[in-house]
Amino acid sequence: MIIDIHMHTVRAAGMRRANGETFATPTQLVRIMDRVGIERAVLLPMVSPEGSHCLTSTEEVLLIARRYKGRFIPFCNIDPRIEMNSLSTDLGHMLDYYIAQGCKGLGEITANLPFDDPRVEKLFDACQSRDLPVTFHVGPQEGDCYGLVDGPGLPRLEQALMRFPKLKLLGHSQPFWAEIAPDYGEAGRNGYPKGPIKPGGRLPQLFSRYPSLYGDLSAGSGYNAMSRDPEFGYHFMEKYQDRLLFGTDICAPSNDTPLVRYLHTALSEGKLSSQAYEKITWRNASLLLKLEPA
Ligand SMILES: [Zn+2]
Repeated sequence: MIIDIHMHTVRAAGMRRANGETFATPTQLVRIMDRVGIERAVLLPMVSPEGSHCLTSTEEVLLIARRYKGRFIPFCNIDPRIEMNSLSTDLGHMLDYYIAQGCKGLGEITANLPFDDPRVEKLFDACQSRDLPVTFHVGPQEGDCYGLVDGPGLPRLEQALMRFPKLKLLGHSQPFWAEIAPDYGEAGRNGYPKGPIKPGGRLPQLFSRYPSLYGDLSAGSGYNAMSRDPEFGYHFMEKYQDRLLFGTDICAPSNDTPLVRYLHTALSEGKLSSQAYEKITWRNASLLLKLEPA
Protein backbone atom coordinates (compact mmCIF):
# COMPACT_ATOMS: atom_id res chain seq x y z
CA MET A 1 0.00 0.00 0.00
CA ILE A 2 1.19 3.52 -0.80
CA ILE A 3 -0.42 6.81 0.28
CA ASP A 4 0.60 9.91 -1.68
CA ILE A 5 0.71 13.11 0.39
CA HIS A 6 0.71 15.55 -2.53
CA MET A 7 -1.40 15.62 -5.71
CA HIS A 8 -3.37 18.27 -7.58
CA THR A 9 -6.27 18.00 -9.99
CA VAL A 10 -8.96 19.86 -11.90
CA ARG A 11 -12.55 18.76 -12.53
CA ALA A 12 -12.03 18.97 -16.30
CA ALA A 13 -8.79 19.41 -18.27
CA GLY A 14 -9.69 22.93 -19.45
CA MET A 15 -7.12 25.60 -20.23
CA ARG A 16 -3.59 24.54 -21.12
CA ARG A 17 -0.49 26.12 -19.62
CA ALA A 18 1.92 27.93 -21.91
CA ASN A 19 3.92 24.64 -22.12
CA GLY A 20 0.85 22.88 -23.52
CA GLU A 21 0.09 20.82 -20.42
CA THR A 22 -3.04 20.68 -18.30
CA PHE A 23 -3.51 19.44 -14.77
CA ALA A 24 -4.40 15.74 -14.63
CA THR A 25 -8.11 15.04 -14.22
CA PRO A 26 -9.18 12.70 -11.38
CA THR A 27 -9.65 9.86 -13.88
CA GLN A 28 -6.13 10.41 -15.26
CA LEU A 29 -4.75 10.47 -11.71
CA VAL A 30 -6.46 7.19 -10.83
CA ARG A 31 -4.98 5.63 -13.98
CA ILE A 32 -1.47 6.72 -12.92
CA MET A 33 -2.09 5.58 -9.33
CA ASP A 34 -3.19 2.12 -10.49
CA ARG A 35 -0.18 1.84 -12.78
CA VAL A 36 2.43 2.69 -10.13
CA GLY A 37 0.67 1.17 -7.10
CA ILE A 38 -0.59 4.22 -5.19
CA GLU A 39 -3.74 3.30 -3.34
CA ARG A 40 -4.77 6.68 -1.93
CA ALA A 41 -3.68 10.26 -2.58
CA VAL A 42 -4.13 13.59 -0.87
CA LEU A 43 -5.69 16.21 -3.14
CA LEU A 44 -4.44 19.72 -2.49
CA PRO A 45 -6.70 22.55 -3.70
CA MET A 46 -5.01 25.42 -5.57
CA VAL A 47 -6.52 28.64 -4.27
CA SER A 48 -3.85 31.32 -4.70
CA PRO A 49 -3.36 33.11 -8.03
CA GLU A 50 0.45 32.88 -7.75
CA GLY A 51 0.38 29.08 -7.70
CA SER A 52 -1.15 28.18 -11.03
CA HIS A 53 -2.79 29.22 -14.30
CA CYS A 54 -6.13 27.90 -13.05
CA LEU A 55 -7.51 27.27 -9.58
CA THR A 56 -9.19 24.31 -7.85
CA SER A 57 -11.34 25.07 -4.81
CA THR A 58 -11.71 23.00 -1.66
CA GLU A 59 -15.37 22.49 -2.64
CA GLU A 60 -14.30 20.90 -5.95
CA VAL A 61 -11.78 18.67 -4.19
CA LEU A 62 -14.47 17.51 -1.75
CA LEU A 63 -16.81 16.62 -4.63
CA ILE A 64 -14.03 14.69 -6.41
CA ALA A 65 -13.04 12.83 -3.23
CA ARG A 66 -16.67 11.75 -2.74
CA ARG A 67 -17.03 10.63 -6.33
CA TYR A 68 -13.86 8.51 -6.26
CA LYS A 69 -14.55 7.03 -2.88
CA GLY A 70 -11.54 5.70 -1.03
CA ARG A 71 -8.95 6.90 -3.59
CA PHE A 72 -8.57 10.56 -2.63
CA ILE A 73 -8.05 12.26 0.73
CA PRO A 74 -9.25 15.89 0.69
CA PHE A 75 -7.23 18.76 2.12
CA CYS A 76 -8.77 22.21 2.39
CA ASN A 77 -6.95 25.33 1.35
CA ILE A 78 -7.49 28.97 2.31
CA ASP A 79 -5.58 31.87 0.84
CA PRO A 80 -4.50 34.04 3.80
CA ARG A 81 -6.06 37.05 2.00
CA ILE A 82 -9.47 35.43 1.57
CA GLU A 83 -12.70 37.39 1.80
CA MET A 84 -11.55 40.89 2.84
CA ASN A 85 -7.73 40.71 2.91
CA SER A 86 -8.19 41.44 6.58
CA LEU A 87 -6.90 40.23 9.91
CA SER A 88 -10.46 40.13 11.21
CA THR A 89 -11.73 37.46 8.75
CA ASP A 90 -12.92 34.43 10.71
CA LEU A 91 -10.68 31.67 9.34
CA GLY A 92 -11.61 29.31 12.18
CA HIS A 93 -15.22 29.27 11.00
CA MET A 94 -14.06 28.19 7.53
CA LEU A 95 -11.70 25.53 8.88
CA ASP A 96 -14.39 24.06 11.14
CA TYR A 97 -16.68 23.72 8.13
CA TYR A 98 -14.00 22.02 6.02
CA ILE A 99 -13.01 19.66 8.85
CA ALA A 100 -16.67 18.68 9.27
CA GLN A 101 -16.75 17.98 5.51
CA GLY A 102 -13.82 15.56 5.86
CA CYS A 103 -10.70 17.63 5.13
CA LYS A 104 -7.60 16.15 6.80
CA GLY A 105 -5.13 19.01 6.44
CA LEU A 106 -4.56 22.39 4.82
CA GLY A 107 -2.43 23.23 1.81
CA GLU A 108 -0.54 23.53 -0.27
CA ILE A 109 -0.02 27.16 0.74
CA THR A 110 1.34 28.86 -2.39
CA ALA A 111 0.53 32.51 -1.58
CA ASN A 112 3.62 34.62 -2.25
CA LEU A 113 3.52 36.39 1.14
CA PRO A 114 6.24 36.59 3.80
CA PHE A 115 6.31 33.48 5.98
CA ASP A 116 5.70 35.73 9.01
CA ASP A 117 2.99 37.91 7.44
CA PRO A 118 0.29 38.44 10.12
CA ARG A 119 -2.36 36.98 7.79
CA VAL A 120 -0.25 33.83 7.35
CA GLU A 121 0.40 33.56 11.09
CA LYS A 122 -3.31 33.89 11.74
CA LEU A 123 -3.92 30.92 9.44
CA PHE A 124 -1.14 28.94 11.20
CA ASP A 125 -2.70 29.73 14.57
CA ALA A 126 -6.18 28.60 13.45
CA CYS A 127 -4.74 25.33 12.06
CA GLN A 128 -2.65 24.71 15.18
CA SER A 129 -5.64 25.04 17.49
CA ARG A 130 -7.51 22.44 15.38
CA ASP A 131 -4.51 20.08 15.06
CA LEU A 132 -4.70 20.41 11.27
CA PRO A 133 -1.40 19.66 9.46
CA VAL A 134 -0.25 22.30 6.95
CA THR A 135 1.66 21.76 3.69
CA PHE A 136 3.60 24.76 2.40
CA HIS A 137 5.67 25.77 -0.61
CA VAL A 138 8.62 28.13 -0.03
CA GLY A 139 9.16 31.03 -2.43
CA PRO A 140 12.72 32.41 -2.65
CA GLN A 141 11.53 36.01 -2.98
CA GLU A 142 8.47 38.19 -3.44
CA GLY A 143 7.48 38.21 -7.10
CA ASP A 144 8.38 35.90 -10.00
CA CYS A 145 7.61 32.81 -7.97
CA TYR A 146 4.99 31.32 -5.67
CA GLY A 147 5.08 30.17 -2.06
CA LEU A 148 5.67 31.67 1.37
CA VAL A 149 8.75 33.86 1.22
CA ASP A 150 11.78 32.92 3.28
CA GLY A 151 15.48 33.64 2.98
CA PRO A 152 18.51 31.35 2.78
CA GLY A 153 18.65 29.10 5.83
CA LEU A 154 14.87 29.42 6.30
CA PRO A 155 14.95 31.75 9.35
CA ARG A 156 11.23 32.60 9.08
CA LEU A 157 10.28 28.93 8.96
CA GLU A 158 12.26 28.43 12.17
CA GLN A 159 10.41 31.37 13.71
CA ALA A 160 7.07 29.74 12.78
CA LEU A 161 8.23 26.43 14.28
CA MET A 162 8.98 28.28 17.53
CA ARG A 163 5.80 30.40 17.54
CA PHE A 164 3.48 27.49 16.68
CA PRO A 165 5.19 24.51 18.34
CA LYS A 166 2.18 22.19 18.03
CA LEU A 167 1.49 22.97 14.37
CA LYS A 168 2.58 20.10 12.13
CA LEU A 169 4.30 21.76 9.17
CA LEU A 170 5.01 19.72 6.02
CA GLY A 171 7.87 21.27 4.09
CA HIS A 172 7.99 21.05 0.30
CA SER A 173 9.54 22.84 -2.74
CA GLN A 174 13.03 23.51 -4.11
CA PRO A 175 14.02 26.26 -1.58
CA PHE A 176 12.97 23.92 1.25
CA TRP A 177 14.84 20.80 0.10
CA ALA A 178 17.89 22.74 -1.16
CA GLU A 179 18.61 23.33 2.55
CA ILE A 180 19.45 19.65 3.03
CA ALA A 181 23.02 20.78 2.22
CA PRO A 182 24.98 23.81 3.44
CA ASP A 183 25.57 25.07 -0.11
CA TYR A 184 23.37 25.12 -3.21
CA GLY A 185 26.04 25.25 -5.93
CA GLU A 186 25.16 26.47 -9.39
CA ALA A 187 21.57 25.21 -9.32
CA GLY A 188 20.70 27.76 -6.65
CA ARG A 189 17.98 27.76 -4.01
CA ASN A 190 15.13 27.38 -6.47
CA GLY A 191 16.73 24.56 -8.43
CA TYR A 192 17.88 20.97 -8.04
CA PRO A 193 21.42 21.03 -6.58
CA LYS A 194 23.42 17.91 -7.42
CA GLY A 195 26.26 15.96 -5.88
CA PRO A 196 27.41 14.84 -2.45
CA ILE A 197 25.85 16.48 0.59
CA LYS A 198 28.29 17.95 3.10
CA PRO A 199 27.35 18.00 6.78
CA GLY A 200 25.93 21.22 8.23
CA GLY A 201 22.77 21.77 6.16
CA ARG A 202 19.94 23.73 7.73
CA LEU A 203 17.29 21.03 7.23
CA PRO A 204 19.08 18.36 9.27
CA GLN A 205 19.39 21.00 12.00
CA LEU A 206 15.71 22.02 11.85
CA PHE A 207 14.55 18.39 11.79
CA SER A 208 16.61 17.61 14.88
CA ARG A 209 15.41 20.71 16.77
CA TYR A 210 11.69 20.75 15.92
CA PRO A 211 9.61 17.57 16.23
CA SER A 212 6.66 19.32 14.52
CA LEU A 213 8.57 19.65 11.22
CA TYR A 214 7.67 17.02 8.60
CA GLY A 215 9.13 16.46 5.13
CA ASP A 216 6.90 16.12 2.07
CA LEU A 217 9.11 14.14 -0.35
CA SER A 218 7.05 14.96 -3.43
CA ALA A 219 8.11 16.55 -6.70
CA GLY A 220 11.58 16.79 -8.22
CA SER A 221 12.76 18.65 -5.11
CA GLY A 222 12.00 15.92 -2.55
CA TYR A 223 13.21 13.16 -4.85
CA ASN A 224 16.42 15.09 -5.64
CA ALA A 225 17.16 15.69 -1.95
CA MET A 226 16.87 11.96 -1.15
CA SER A 227 18.67 10.67 -4.26
CA ARG A 228 21.46 13.14 -5.16
CA ASP A 229 23.74 11.55 -2.54
CA PRO A 230 22.10 8.14 -1.99
CA GLU A 231 24.05 7.21 1.18
CA PHE A 232 23.05 10.52 2.78
CA GLY A 233 19.45 10.01 1.60
CA TYR A 234 19.15 6.51 3.09
CA HIS A 235 20.60 7.70 6.39
CA PHE A 236 18.28 10.74 6.50
CA MET A 237 15.24 8.54 5.76
CA GLU A 238 16.20 6.08 8.51
CA LYS A 239 16.82 8.86 11.01
CA TYR A 240 13.62 10.79 10.31
CA GLN A 241 11.48 7.82 9.31
CA ASP A 242 8.64 9.06 11.55
CA ARG A 243 8.37 12.46 9.84
CA LEU A 244 8.94 11.89 6.12
CA LEU A 245 6.06 11.25 3.76
CA PHE A 246 5.98 9.86 0.24
CA GLY A 247 4.44 12.10 -2.42
CA THR A 248 4.51 12.73 -6.16
CA ASP A 249 3.04 16.21 -6.85
CA ILE A 250 1.63 14.93 -10.14
CA CYS A 251 0.42 18.06 -11.91
CA ALA A 252 0.10 16.82 -15.50
CA PRO A 253 -0.82 13.42 -17.01
CA SER A 254 2.74 13.07 -18.39
CA ASN A 255 4.52 13.50 -15.03
CA ASP A 256 6.92 10.71 -13.99
CA THR A 257 7.05 9.21 -10.48
CA PRO A 258 10.76 8.36 -9.89
CA LEU A 259 10.45 8.34 -6.07
CA VAL A 260 8.31 5.16 -6.24
CA ARG A 261 11.12 3.30 -8.03
CA TYR A 262 13.83 4.84 -5.84
CA LEU A 263 12.21 3.78 -2.56
CA HIS A 264 11.32 0.36 -3.89
CA THR A 265 14.88 -0.26 -5.09
CA ALA A 266 16.30 1.01 -1.77
CA LEU A 267 14.06 -1.46 0.05
CA SER A 268 14.82 -4.44 -2.17
CA GLU A 269 18.58 -3.79 -2.05
CA GLY A 270 18.53 -3.55 1.73
CA LYS A 271 19.54 0.14 1.81
CA LEU A 272 16.30 1.12 3.54
CA SER A 273 14.70 -0.89 6.36
CA SER A 274 11.21 -2.25 5.76
CA GLN A 275 10.11 -0.33 8.85
CA ALA A 276 11.26 3.03 7.42
CA TYR A 277 9.84 2.14 3.99
CA GLU A 278 6.40 1.40 5.42
CA LYS A 279 6.35 4.54 7.56
CA ILE A 280 7.40 6.79 4.68
CA THR A 281 5.11 5.24 2.08
CA TRP A 282 1.92 5.10 4.16
CA ARG A 283 2.06 4.65 7.94
CA ASN A 284 3.09 8.25 8.71
CA ALA A 285 0.35 9.66 6.47
CA SER A 286 -2.22 7.40 8.04
CA LEU A 287 -1.21 8.50 11.55
CA LEU A 288 -0.73 12.20 10.80
CA LEU A 289 -4.02 12.56 8.92
CA LYS A 290 -5.91 10.26 11.34
CA LEU A 291 -7.20 8.16 8.45
CA GLU A 292 -9.82 5.48 8.75
CA PRO A 293 -8.95 2.32 6.79
CA ALA A 294 -10.12 2.79 3.16
ZN1 LIG B 1 2.13 20.86 -5.32
